Amino acid sequence: MWLPCGCTSKYIATSFRRRVSKSYIHILGRWRCNVAAFMPEAAGFEGVSDRSALQEFSVNNSESFWAAAGRERLSWIRPFHTVQDCDLSRGRIKWFEGGQLNVSVNCLDRHVHTCPEKVALIWERDEPGSEVKITYRQLLEMTCRLGNLLRRRGVKRGDCVTIYMPTCPLAVASMLACARIGAAHNVVFAGFSAEALAERIRDAQSSTVITVNQGVRGGKVTQLKKTVDAAVQSCPAVKQVFVAMRTENPVAITARDVAMEEEMLKEDLVCEPAAMDSEDVLFLLYTSGSTGKPKGLVHTQAGYLLYAALTHRYVFSYHDRDVFGCVADIGWITGHSYSVYGPLANGGTTVLFESTPIYPDPGRYWEMVQRLKINQFYGAPTAIRLLLKYGDQWVHKYDRSTLKTLGSVGEPINTEAWEWYHRVVGGGRCPVVDTWWQTETGGICISPRPSEPDAGIVPGMAMRPFFGIKPVLMDAEGKVLTSNHTSGALCIAQPWPGMARTIHNNHQRFIETYCQPHPGTERCVRDKQQSLLLWCFLRHKLKSLLSVPIGYFFTGDGAYRSKEGHYQITGRLDDVINVSGHRIGTAEIEDVVNQCSAVAESAVIGYSHNIKGQGVYAFVVLKQDVEDQGADLRQQLHNMVSKKIAKYACPDFIQFVQRLPKTRSGKIMRRVLRKVVERDLDGVGDINTLDDPASVQEIIQGHRDLCSKQPQ
Ligand code: AMP
Repeated sequence: MWLPCGCTSKYIATSFRRRVSKSYIHILGRWRCNVAAFMPEAAGFEGVSDRSALQEFSVNNSESFWAAAGRERLSWIRPFHTVQDCDLSRGRIKWFEGGQLNVSVNCLDRHVHTCPEKVALIWERDEPGSEVKITYRQLLEMTCRLGNLLRRRGVKRGDCVTIYMPTCPLAVASMLACARIGAAHNVVFAGFSAEALAERIRDAQSSTVITVNQGVRGGKVTQLKKTVDAAVQSCPAVKQVFVAMRTENPVAITARDVAMEEEMLKEDLVCEPAAMDSEDVLFLLYTSGSTGKPKGLVHTQAGYLLYAALTHRYVFSYHDRDVFGCVADIGWITGHSYSVYGPLANGGTTVLFESTPIYPDPGRYWEMVQRLKINQFYGAPTAIRLLLKYGDQWVHKYDRSTLKTLGSVGEPINTEAWEWYHRVVGGGRCPVVDTWWQTETGGICISPRPSEPDAGIVPGMAMRPFFGIKPVLMDAEGKVLTSNHTSGALCIAQPWPGMARTIHNNHQRFIETYCQPHPGTERCVRDKQQSLLLWCFLRHKLKSLLSVPIGYFFTGDGAYRSKEGHYQITGRLDDVINVSGHRIGTAEIEDVVNQCSAVAESAVIGYSHNIKGQGVYAFVVLKQDVEDQGADLRQQLHNMVSKKIAKYACPDFIQFVQRLPKTRSGKIMRRVLRKVVERDLDGVGDINTLDDPASVQEIIQGHRDLCSKQPQ
């Protein structure tokens, strides 16, 4: 793969210093915090003397907080005039209006001015020990050449470029090159099938795709260019495919293809950055919802970048010379916010991990920590659970003394995995931060840190809201639950800059999904608006008070708030499951299964899986004339899901049933199916209201038979 010359140069520690990075002050043998040393902006916040006061201030004076952070931490071409203009109840979310900036300038140029030779990226390639280091100067050079190339080939401001690449420097440069010239990017996880990719290319209306010839992961080669070739056959709008060479193996080239590295070398090293409005689109990222169609969440420039940077800095306590190791793929939001945008906006050194946790052996992560001297390690519970099973010796073999913070993301981390991560990996020294957030939230919203340095962390709990985040729990009626030791739907009661702005091409779906999903909520919001209006009118302050944010952001997750007021995420409330930290809508899988000519209908549910967090269980009703209920049909359905979505979405269990349990109005009772699979037969409840109660007995028996052949 083409890299700028000298890119293997050694890490040069510089005196790169920034105002925001002073550390705690040790007074009288106890860690106490000078809040302004912790966060310089706090010096200007009245009455803020410690970190809890800072958190309170950030929520109660959200505008002042974000205005100060926005001014301090981003470089603007033109300053903003309005901090926020938001009305969650209507899905209107605008931050830093009037401001203009360029995200790539914020992530690259300003650091090149102060410390060009600082390492920006450490590309941890599949083969251990073959890492490549890229400095800020080199990354800017790659980005500019690519930005110029995209421009020369007709990509304009406002276009959307689809990126189908493994985690590598050219993928990061592709994202930043789009940002440089004002195009949006749409990174599609390189494990998605040709059909899933095609659907996302079409929905994003991309006419340019960037890919590599082949991917390399876990010692295996994947044919990414071939997948793109298959995908673009059903994407008539695609005019060009840029192909970078990850391996030396040539691939079939068509008239549409552009040899990316070769063409980049012809380009100038300087690329004029586009002056982007704060609310211009930075990227789309598709994620699963509860319908069969994935949604392209839209993130915009300034608010997203600020939020990614601030959370990266404070949740992980990232300091200037640290090496940040987020092992997520750039195809997911974690890769966007914590492999790319957050660390680069902070001028940090970030690891791009191309491999798997067990390649070439289960010591891979920890050998990498030792070799790259990683200070913050951010991974997924599914990998931790897997590694735990291989035993402590794989961890003990390597020196992990550089580690300062351990992070967990993507799904709930069970206590056993948390304890192991903390005790064995971190040697009991490093805080483990269980970070809760979503593609929609742009960055971490709930996490044990930041907090007072010695504040306790409860295993398996995300615990504390980040600055500016106001979580609330709501009951099914849309009533906010105020007491502690209670559970409900997790909502966020005021906007924050990192949140998604809309669903690409479907703002109505955005409003319905995130701004008013509970039947009672709309009424509740309307009541709130009316009383506000009346109050404003009476106080003759209508104009100023109308800008008070109203409404809620509905996350789709349930949560428990403990007696102490800490949050624990209890799982999805909708028909979305989380397999190894990857979201997939049950409806998406059902859509594919139902396309099989032998299938009459199906119901897919998630069940608890000891490594993946959740596994996929499909109940399938065959058409009457179909006799095959065996391995062939199961394999066929498996192949279909793998081909149309991705391997991770394939059912672990396929149970053929005569009929599905339904209400009299025809709604499939997934709750009943879940109870059967969880073997909680008492929890099945009253089935007499079902259209055909006998179906449940049959399903229970079929489940037992299947599990005796294939243990769960
Ligand atoms: P995604 O948008 O693909 O990152 O998936 C977000 C979803 O993953 C959330 O809505 C949660 O259901 C789940 N999730 C993410 N982080 C956590 C966490 N720390 N604890 C529990 N669930 C989580």
